[in-house]
Parts: sequence; C-alpha cells; structure tokens
Amino acid sequence: MAAATQSRRGLLIILSSPSGAGKSTLAKRLMDWDPSLRFSVSATTRQPRPGEVDGEHYHFLQETQFKAMVADGAMLEHAHVFGNFYGSPMAPVAEAIEAGRDVLFDIDWQGAQQIRNSALGRHTLSIFILPPSIPELKRRLVSRGQDGPEVIAKRMLKSWDEISHWDGYDYVLVNDDLDATFEKLKTIVGAERLRREQQPGLAAHVRKLHDEFREEQE
Ligand code: ADP
Ligand code: 5GP
Repeated sequence: MAAATQSRRGLLIILSSPSGAGKSTLAKRLMDWDPSLRFSVSATTRQPRPGEVDGEHYHFLQETQFKAMVADGAMLEHAHVFGNFYGSPMAPVAEAIEAGRDVLFDIDWQGAQQIRNSALGRHTLSIFILPPSIPELKRRLVSRGQDGPEVIAKRMLKSWDEISHWDGYDYVLVNDDLDATFEKLKTIVGAERLRREQQPGLAAHVRKLHDEFREEQE
C-alpha cells in the first residue's frame, strides 16, 4: 500500500433530518456499503420501539443514568428531543477515530452543532436530509408503522424546527428517490475522505517524493 494511503484520520459523519425523511435508512445502507464504518450508538431515555435492540439501535437508559454520564463528561454531545434525552457516548467515538475509522452519527441539529464546535469539529462531515414534500414526510412516518398517531403528530409538529437548521450543514440532499440519494451520499463520503486534512500520511509521501526528486536531479 502506498505511504499516502497508509494512515487515514477518521471522519465524524453526521446525518440529520426531520424524523421520517430517511436518515436511518440511508445510515443503514452506508454501513452495509462500508463495514469499516462505526455507527455511534446513541444513549436515550425514550422507550424502545418494537424490534429495537438495546446496545444495537440505542443504549436505553434511565434518566438518572443518562444525567450521570453527562455530569461525568462521558457524552460527546447531548440534547433533549421529543421530550426525551439523547446523547452520543464519547468513548467509542474517540477509540474509532484514533484507529482511523469513520464514525456515523444519526443525530439532530443540536448534536451536530455541538460536535462541529468541539475539538473534533474540523474532522466533521455533516449532511442534512430533506424530504421531497411535507405530505410525503407524513406518509413515510405513517408507513414506517412504528409510532402511534399522537407520536406522529408530535414529530410532524417538530419537523419544521429541524428543517429550519438545514443551512448549517456541509451538504444537503433531497431524499426523493432512495437509490439516487444513496449514490450521492456515497459520492460525498468518498470525496471527503480524500480531503488533505484527512490524510496525515501525505506529508511523509511528499517528503519521499522530494528525496526522489533531488536524487533524480543529481
Ligand atoms: P428517519 O430515520 O429520518 O426518521 P427512516 O429512515 O426511518 O427515517 O424512514 C422513514 C420511512 O420512510 C421508512 O419506512 C423508510 O423505509 C421510508 N423511506 C426512506 N427513504 C425513502 C424514500 N426515498 N422513498 C420512499 N420511502 C422512503
Ligand atoms: P428517534 O426517537 O426517532 O430514534 O430519534 C429522534 C431524534 O433524535 C432524531 O432526529 C435523531 O436523529 C435524534 N437523535 C438520536 N440520537 C441522538 C443523539 O445521540 N444526539 C442527538 N443530539 N440527537 C439524537
């Protein structure tokens, strides 16, 4: 393997959207596409939905446990969303980034803002997913079949609050056709991985080129 590609710095890839726009679906596709990606399993105080597995989809915590982690500085970011607490535990993120692996976050705009403003901010790639229309957003929430009418109404009510933060993100995708959106997402991730600051091995490679250049000139 060439020196330039040997060491890669991990990216913090953030997906946000109003609930129902498709970010979990896109996150899952991204994980299947590149198994080296680490998904940041959030902690939450909300109840598990049918089929959700503790430690896989979320770490389901009591409010006291959640608040203790925040007080211990063990959360990279945290926020109150839809009446529940959500947060990204710091330790697995730090471990993955140190090992040069990218970490994928499915978090809201408050979390995205906190990570962007953190020490890891310059290694952040943030992508906002917009729905093609508000009726389609509602249709997707209903068709997901995981929340009752009251919860869906609450999510619809909050959707504008989330959408209004679209312009704080590096990239924005309108998730109309799922396959087309996923193709664009892969393009973004592929390109961002090639950013100069994500390739710490480049300096050594250029030094080697310089040595070879001087030899060539002798
Ligand atoms: P979020 O994680 O943003 O809340 P989900 O990924 O759970 O949203 O998607 C909500 C529902 O919409 C799911 O049933 C999913 O299969 C569906 N969905 C996602 N993207 C599309 C799309 N482009 N076209 C049609 N349905 C979609
Ligand atoms: P849900 O209850 O549908 O799984 O998630 C509700 C909202 O909380 C979504 O917008 C999701 O992105 C956000 N969320 C999930 N985990 C976290 C987290 O760790 N931090 C923050 N800030 N938001 C999160």
